[in-house]
Amino acid sequence: MFRISQYMQEIAAPTPLGPKRNPPGPVVIWNLIRRCNLTCKHCYSISADTNFPGELSTEQVYTVMDDLKDFRVPVLILSGGEPLLRPDIFDIAKRAKARGFYVGLSSNGTLIDENNIDKIAECDFDYVGVSLDGIRETHDKFRRLDGAFEASLKGIRLCRELGLKIGVRFTMTQDNAHDLPALLKLVEDEGIDRFYFSHLNYAGRGNKNRKDDAQHQLTRWAMDLLFDTCWEYNQRGLNKEFTTGNNDADGVYFLHWVRRRFPGQGGACRGQAAPVGRQFVGRQCRQYRQPRQCAP
Ligand code: SF4
Repeated sequence: MFRISQYMQEIAAPTPLGPKRNPPGPVVIWNLIRRCNLTCKHCYSISADTNFPGELSTEQVYTVMDDLKDFRVPVLILSGGEPLLRPDIFDIAKRAKARGFYVGLSSNGTLIDENNIDKIAECDFDYVGVSLDGIRETHDKFRRLDGAFEASLKGIRLCRELGLKIGVRFTMTQDNAHDLPALLKLVEDEGIDRFYFSHLNYAGRGNKNRKDDAQHQLTRWAMDLLFDTCWEYNQRGLNKEFTTGNNDADGVYFLHWVRRRFPGQGGACRGQAAPVGRQFVGRQCRQYRQPRQCAP
């Protein structure tokens, strides 16, 4: 995960490099259930609206949770499939909170409604992430359900009304890149706290549909837009978080953006971001290589 907003803050108000941090353990995105009410084109878990064998029982979940605690994992993101389809999801979330984890709920949002919003709020989630892969028809086509966009947006609004920290997750391909500017506007208009940009994960149906993935210049365009928007929010004092995932080369591309945008002034940020760049600079990257002339 690449936390753009943190590096933007370093550009706005550079801080000296501190000692090397020793983070306690990895963030765990926990796919607690494979069943889902949707069948999205890019689903890496090949989820569907059916029960799959081999799911963990509640007791088994608690045992794994205790192991993760012993392993010093600080963050659990409860995901799926659709985690709200687990009848014990609220018990699991409350136990995770009681054990001291930072707990997020990662949902497609279509099942968040008036019947369960109070239970969701009672869990005191630190963060609720809802997937939006475009505006209306684009999202519904991607998610293969008419009305999915409206249902997810309603879920977002219900969470926000109860003061939950809410984020939107967007997976970009050639099919929905054109909606990225409108989605970023929606993030501001709806008072959404976080925007998570995901590159396509080449697994499951995501792998089957990898021919639809965004290529090269389209990915560069999206990253530039994301960085520009994040910087603008920073300058306006809007406290929104921008992160990306599933492409480690984003850190390297960010360093190039800093050099272009702030020639001669990127030293502080470069110092902070260097570990990110060094870690990934040697890897070949499917999205950034072979620049081409194409536009969204
Ligand atoms: S991507 Fe998420 S919402 Fe879509 S089918 Fe897979 S688990 Fe369900």
